[in-house]
Amino acid sequence: MDFDLFVIGAGSGGVRAARMSAQMGAKVAIAEVSDLGGTCVNVGCVPKKLFVYAAQFAQGFVDAREFGLDTAVPHFDWDRLRDNKDKEIARLNGIYGNLLDGAGVELMRGRATITGPNEVTVNGVSYSANRILIATGGWPFVPEIEGKEHIITSNEVFHLKTWPKRAVVIGGGYIAVEFAGIFNGTGVDTTLVHRGDKVLRGFDADTQAFAQEQFAVSGINLQMKAEVTQVTKTGDSYLVGLNTGVTLEADLVLGCTGRVPNTQGLGLESVGVLTASNGAVVVDESFATNVPSIFAVGDVIGRVALTPVALAEGMYLAHEWFGEGGRPVRYDAIPTAVFSQPNIGTVGLTEEEARKTHEVEIYRSSFRPMQNTISGNPLRAMMKLIVCKKSRKILGAHMVGPDAGEIMQGIGIAYAMGATKEDFDQTIGIHPTAAEEFVTMREPV
Ligand code: FAD
Ligand code: NDP
Repeated sequence: MDFDLFVIGAGSGGVRAARMSAQMGAKVAIAEVSDLGGTCVNVGCVPKKLFVYAAQFAQGFVDAREFGLDTAVPHFDWDRLRDNKDKEIARLNGIYGNLLDGAGVELMRGRATITGPNEVTVNGVSYSANRILIATGGWPFVPEIEGKEHIITSNEVFHLKTWPKRAVVIGGGYIAVEFAGIFNGTGVDTTLVHRGDKVLRGFDADTQAFAQEQFAVSGINLQMKAEVTQVTKTGDSYLVGLNTGVTLEADLVLGCTGRVPNTQGLGLESVGVLTASNGAVVVDESFATNVPSIFAVGDVIGRVALTPVALAEGMYLAHEWFGEGGRPVRYDAIPTAVFSQPNIGTVGLTEEEARKTHEVEIYRSSFRPMQNTISGNPLRAMMKLIVCKKSRKILGAHMVGPDAGEIMQGIGIAYAMGATKEDFDQTIGIHPTAAEEFVTMREPV
């Protein structure tokens, strides 16, 4: 065999599995058709978060006035942000290359196809491997809409030539609300069109409702229970027709209508790897497909599409194969954040989920964060704990407000350890912070 392990896709999951395996002594190859680091580094988490900072800084200038700082809202220079972002991403691409190189992983640039249960072909050359790991991630999905060719996706939005003055964002998931916040925060007249009546399906209902209210307060035009039926180009702009009869005018239409597993042209059918109806590669609890030598991790398996989850899955396999055994991925304790304005952070069950299996107590608090008091910024924060009446364990923690993502990481550790409400109550608060609210809520609602 040429390799112990052949990884397809140098994104979050693939790089982690390849690097760790090689460090533990395996002979490893990795193929990448695009830029190193995958979605997260190039067209996902990292550039998105840089844009989120731009939106937050812009608001900071407004908020600073009543703190005694005479500021004019600065002009937003998209070209500068985009170019600086590109430089930072190029730096990260280099780091990923060095990491692979340093670990002794052989990097092949090109599209890989599985041509046998133990064979991968890249650029016309076939290689044999004891194990093949599919880590090819996901790809934006846009439904069939008349004028679909005018709708861009998150793949393109990071490289725009010009920043729009008016934007329509379609969808109500993570990417939609994050980009609505980025546009709105950088002075773009922003409309979010969502087919449902609540954004962020799957989140706790109070969180959804509260966040949605804050999005509206922040100035985003919300068109709920509405679907885009048609996009037409008129000169340099677009007319976006909705099934509610509304027509919007915009310079940019961003489709954030979900992502699908990226398996096209991978050769799965030729070796008989099973996929689910949504295209996800079907794997068992050890990430094995129905073909014993072929495994898959990350977005392509359609479980939880988050970078740290792909990393944990890749790491599990490396340790399982070439180390002293992998630590199972704690799917039950995945903290996550939505980097909208305001941020949302969450871990554990929603109230609706918890009520199905437990008798619960709900603790909830909503308040104006301190930095929004004298600034006049109308945005509020909400925190919520769901507690099991019997065991007293925290079943879920949710927050909408500044730094919710940062705060939720610590709460996530407590949650993973099985903390009780009394553990929270005994914890001394850090004053004055928003986070202290999590340890000072005393009365159930
Ligand atoms: P990817 O990172 O997508 O990597 C797959 C790689 O495989 C790609 O580089 C691709 O080019 C390559 N590839 C595909 N087919 C082939 C082939 N045949 N041959 C060779 N190479 C191939 N997650 C978070 O946790 N936090 C966030 O804030 C966050 N923000 C996001 C924002 C956006 C706009 C998007 C789109 C996603 C975001 N995510 C975020 C999700 C996160 O990016 C993904 O969950 C993560 O990147 C999945 O890693 P992966 O290894 O499965 O796949
Ligand atoms: P999501 O699944 O989060 O959201 C997709 C949205 O598109 C939903 O609101 C959905 O509506 C809507 N939609 C789907 N199909 C249609 C259709 N045919 N017509 C109209 N609307 C439609 O996907 P995203 O693409 O936003 O993000 C993909 C994943 O990437 C996320 O789930 C998350 O795991 C990850 N991610 C994580 C981030 C983070 O950690 N901060 C940031 C960005 C992405 P409905 O709810 O009605 O189904």
